[in-house]
Amino acid sequence: MPVIVGKISQEFINEQKTRIQNLITGKRELLALPQDNLTSEEVYDNSKIKGAQDITKINQDITGLENALLRIHNKVYGICIDCGNDIPTARLRSCPEATRCTDCATKHERKN
Ligand SMILES: [Zn+2]
Repeated sequence: MPVIVGKISQEFINEQKTRIQNLITGKRELLALPQDNLTSEEVYDNSKIKGAQDITKINQDITGLENALLRIHNKVYGICIDCGNDIPTARLRSCPEATRCTDCATKHERKN
């Protein structure tokens, strides 16, 4: 399998790092929100984080994002864990924690 490394610019990686850190901060704030004493409007706004399942999901998201930061640190960010090709930057923009390129992600999802 071809291993193509280093096509993603350092500038983009730095951008992603900031984006990921902001996402983690935002999600941590969601978890820290008081669940009681909210106005009805706030309850509506926060309805998505109601319930243990959603909190689990947020924690999973945070873990995924933290792993992305770790991959940036280890200089393997943006490299597909299955085929070793670069993950398209458009995909990384919409899904900063992506570990697979579009093809491999589709294959992986089919398997599961
Ligand atoms: Zn791949």
